[in-house]
Amino acid sequence: MKMSLRILSLLTLLLLAACSSDADQSSDSEPLPLAVGGAMAFGPVAVTHGGVGSPPEWMPLTQAAADSAFVRLSETTDALEGALAGTVAMENIPVFNAGTGANIRLDGKTIQMDAAVMTSAGGFAAVAVIERVKHPILVARAVMDTPHRMLAGDGATRFAHAMGFADVVPTCPEAEAKFRQRWRNLLAGKAGGGYETFDWRRAWNFPGPLPAGADSVTGPAGPETGDTVGTVTRASDGSFAVTLSTGGTSITLDGRVGDVPVFGCGSFAGPAGAVACTGHGEEIIRQMLARTVYNLMADGLSARDAAVRAAEAFPAEWSVGIIAVDANGWGVAANRQMAYGVAPDVLE
Ligand code: ASP
Repeated sequence: MKMSLRILSLLTLLLLAACSSDADQSSDSEPLPLAVGGAMAFGPVAVTHGGVGSPPEWMPLTQAAADSAFVRLSETTDALEGALAGTVAMENIPVFNAGTGANIRLDGKTIQMDAAVMTSAGGFAAVAVIERVKHPILVARAVMDTPHRMLAGDGATRFAHAMGFADVVPTCPEAEAKFRQRWRNLLAGKAGGGYETFDWRRAWNFPGPLPAGADSVTGPAGPETGDTVGTVTRASDGSFAVTLSTGGTSITLDGRVGDVPVFGCGSFAGPAGAVACTGHGEEIIRQMLARTVYNLMADGLSARDAAVRAAEAFPAEWSVGIIAVDANGWGVAANRQMAYGVAPDVLE
């Protein structure tokens, strides 16, 4: 007989209560703003993040996405299906820098997105600098059914449309507001990410000139958030998966590819668990961060301790957030604030 979601959830929570949860304890070394995790040794688990820098007020959104993933995991033993459900949910929400809310580039026109999927069985596929789709994560999933691992640029966009994904430029008022904020920060020399000193006017490589009026944008500089989205899952059969989707960093040259679609960097899954990262993509690539966290878990560290150790080792000047799940539990760590969700819900 099919076990209902409620019974499954109850059983998991009972087991959770019997286990010694270490939620909200920070590690012995330099405390991180976010270092949580817990034991969950039975049944499906989903953990989501809304990008490092995302505020606590977004926790209901990341929690709802984790719940969506968990509902899917109660219907299937396919961990990837659950991970897709979590990330698709966040690609639909304008505040996140993925899908609907993906960053508008400095030219004021283009939106280029990266996404990747991976399973513990070794499946991996990604899209890079894809345009004109609402759900890049589903296109990455579709790439998995081709003989290839990654499609990029116009080829990725045309592939998506050939596969029946609607030809839409995913934008919204939230993304427009972030675009204006970005220009204010750039002109104020407070863009971060190396752009304070980088001669970006000389390197300008967008097809057209600077957008009209860009040079005269006024207003105070203000904080920007990462808000890439990711989901890691463990299915009831013990398999793992990860999905990761982003509109990229706020201020970049045309064609920039971050860590998200690069194998072993933004995400990784294997028999020991699944990992998703967020933060300064260039440094995440240099550290092969997701694979590094995974290796720590494969060596016996818990998901929480592996995430915490890697986040603590990340250079403090760069933002980073990590979510992970293993056979015994889950972990979340970040060196800035970060909205996240865990299902079954252990956060209340
Ligand atoms: N890691 C992403 C990138 O560099 C950005 C983010 O996580 O917010 O594209």
